[in-house]
Amino acid sequence: MSFPSSATSSLFVSSKKILIIGAGISGLSFAASLQKLLPTICSPTFTPPTLKIYERDTSDLQPTRQGYSLSIRSDASTGGVQTLQKLGLLEIAIGESITGYQGKEKGTFCLWDGKWNEIFRADMPAPKGLPVQSLRIKRNVLRKILVDAVVEKGAEIVWEKKVVGVEKLEDERLKVVFAGGEEEECDFLVAADGSKSKVRGALRPEDELQFRGVVGIMGEARFADEPPAPANRDWGLMLSGTGTGLFVGPVDERSVVWSVTWLASEPAALSKQPIGEREAHELLKGALERGKAFPEPFTKYVEATDMETLMLRNFSDKAPFEHFAGSLKGTNVVFLGDANHAVTPFAGAGACLALSDGWDLAEQLVKHEKFEDALKAYDELSIPRAKNVLRMSHFTIKFGHGKGWWTRVFVIGFKILFGVMAFLRRFR
Ligand SMILES: Cc1cc2nc3c(=O)[nH]c(=O)nc-3n(C[C@H](O)[C@H](O)[C@H](O)COP(=O)(O)OP(=O)(O)OC[C@H]3O[C@@H](n4cnc5c(N)ncnc54)[C@H](O)[C@@H]3O)c2cc1C
Repeated sequence: MSFPSSATSSLFVSSKKILIIGAGISGLSFAASLQKLLPTICSPTFTPPTLKIYERDTSDLQPTRQGYSLSIRSDASTGGVQTLQKLGLLEIAIGESITGYQGKEKGTFCLWDGKWNEIFRADMPAPKGLPVQSLRIKRNVLRKILVDAVVEKGAEIVWEKKVVGVEKLEDERLKVVFAGGEEEECDFLVAADGSKSKVRGALRPEDELQFRGVVGIMGEARFADEPPAPANRDWGLMLSGTGTGLFVGPVDERSVVWSVTWLASEPAALSKQPIGEREAHELLKGALERGKAFPEPFTKYVEATDMETLMLRNFSDKAPFEHFAGSLKGTNVVFLGDANHAVTPFAGAGACLALSDGWDLAEQLVKHEKFEDALKAYDELSIPRAKNVLRMSHFTIKFGHGKGWWTRVFVIGFKILFGVMAFLRRFR
């Protein structure tokens, strides 16, 4: 990696006050990446920036708040595993993951037909230089690993502090407004506050989430012993051909996350979380009714659901945007992860994008002296991969909710394609 050596005091980040909104995957990845890369700048005239993170949630997340598990992938387009390695956090993440070092023997991504027969098993070898091909980890566990890393290196996280607005100031600086009326100014703002970003709402009000035409019920099932197969180890989608989608996957040794989804022309009316007992029972009944064609252990998963984790969900996403387009010109703000390019869980890669965004932004900021150059270089990395993931997720929504003959065509097509791929891998 080559960084400017002679004029590092004029690096944009030198002596800047940086505020990060959101201690989620992208905000924490950016903080950890900057902390990792700043010491590589050797110049007596460079003054490190100050980093402060504001987070709406508590440091200790409740099960109903994002208690699901994530697959972190190593395919070149998303690079989640690679980013954890660059951050020096891969070993810890593997150690705390559901899959561990045994990787694919411990479980992997699958596509099943309507009788739980495997159509596809993602048992590809790990890319060169990586100990695992992917890992499955609880979102909250991954967040904790990142929190511990950034706090250990001196970043301040202010918990339970909700941003409600942002204003542009003179000289490209910004003012952040918090619930309760407090305000704080900064030289550079990193908006990492997720898909419903308040910062985006303030600075790009026209750039809203788009309903993707899918509604779903999801929950986490808890068992006294090992959950029934296949979601005790494997995760993935059932292509049932009924028009109803089913995702299942392990959360830990005793829990399974499931989600039953269907196509809808309008988003469903959602209640505020946590929902009441009566509504939770209605949702459970609704999930069983929608999935009545699914064979066991579907009912076992749904009936073992922890009622506090049940939720109805509309699936929305949005296309990524370039930072120099329109209203953001001349404003020191960057949107990372879902705040820029929200993807639905059908992408199975939003957290990987968030991790990579964090690293890439930090790397470009220490490589380029001018903010504009860093941001252009960052957009060139971030936007194409987000567009790619978005496109794939729309395709997954289509085949995940297919009906009748064309699902059968998909299933046969997949079987042939994956069979050929597995055959060719033997000769590598
Ligand atoms: C059910 C489900 C399954 C998924 N599965 C996968 C998967 O298998 N693989 C994968 O890679 N991705 C997956 N994803 C997507 C992934 O979780 C997200 O894309 C990723 O978390 C985005 O990271 P982020 O940092 O942009 O946003 P988030 O992780 O959502 O973080 C945003 C943070 O900002 C905080 N915040 C929000 N508003 C404010 C405010 N006003 N003030 C202060 N703080 C605020 C939030 O509390 C949160 O901590 C899944 C998502 C869901 C919902």
